[in-house]
Amino acid sequence: MRTVPTESTDNYLKAVFEITAIQERASTTEIARRLKVSAASVTGMLKKLASATPALVTYAKHRGAELTHEGQQRAIEVIRHHRLIESYLYEALDYGWDEVHEEAEKLEHFISEDLEDRMAAKLGYPEYDPHGHPIPRRNGTIPACEDIALRLIGAGGKVRLNRVADDDSASLRTVAGLGITLYSTMEVLEQRKPGGETVLRNAGGFAVTLPREIAARLRVTLVSGAQMITVDPASESIPLASGFEHRADSCAQPLKVRQ
Ligand SMILES: [Zn+2]
Ligand SMILES: [Zn+2]
Repeated sequence: MRTVPTESTDNYLKAVFEITAIQERASTTEIARRLKVSAASVTGMLKKLASATPALVTYAKHRGAELTHEGQQRAIEVIRHHRLIESYLYEALDYGWDEVHEEAEKLEHFISEDLEDRMAAKLGYPEYDPHGHPIPRRNGTIPACEDIALRLIGAGGKVRLNRVADDDSASLRTVAGLGITLYSTMEVLEQRKPGGETVLRNAGGFAVTLPREIAARLRVTLVSGAQMITVDPASESIPLASGFEHRADSCAQPLKVRQ
């Protein structure tokens, strides 16, 4: 008997996918934190997903979960839906970049393969969504996304904004309000300690100050000049936006996939 993916199953698979992109296994606690549910319900669901036919995760008590090949396929499919829907709403329906994530979170579970294909075709098969996140291709491969956390770039560095976390609309409005847009080139003027603010010269030539929580949501590529700086361990403990840890790529493939 085949397991029919449900909305909640999809969200668990996405969470495990994102966590295992940066560490080997996804712990119950980490999944619970992301999905804002109790650890007990996570355990229950992981057991269900592990005993489904086909199994979507492997799960061992105290060791957490990882995706099976089937589970990974489904997670990538849902992420493809999500990012294509965001792109379509943004490009074709004039939604703002701060409005599309919420809609996509709802719709991603339900669109057919046909609708997905038509949206992709209409947009000319885009590879990145309005926040710079790579859109998995129909064959399950993921376009390249190599960038680094803005907070790691020292003063004097010219950077191009490559990706911004999309799961908090107020933060996206703050970013836009500071005159910062995707793919624009900016200069790092100062990385402040201990507050963690980043001071930038935006593309319009204005110096703007980004609070640490906002700066931590941006990833950039280096255009010229600057050394990487190390971030002190204290600031590492700041909880970052879920799905967007600033140490590693949330778009990377899981480290390993069990067949
Ligand atoms: Zn989104
Ligand atoms: Zn997005």
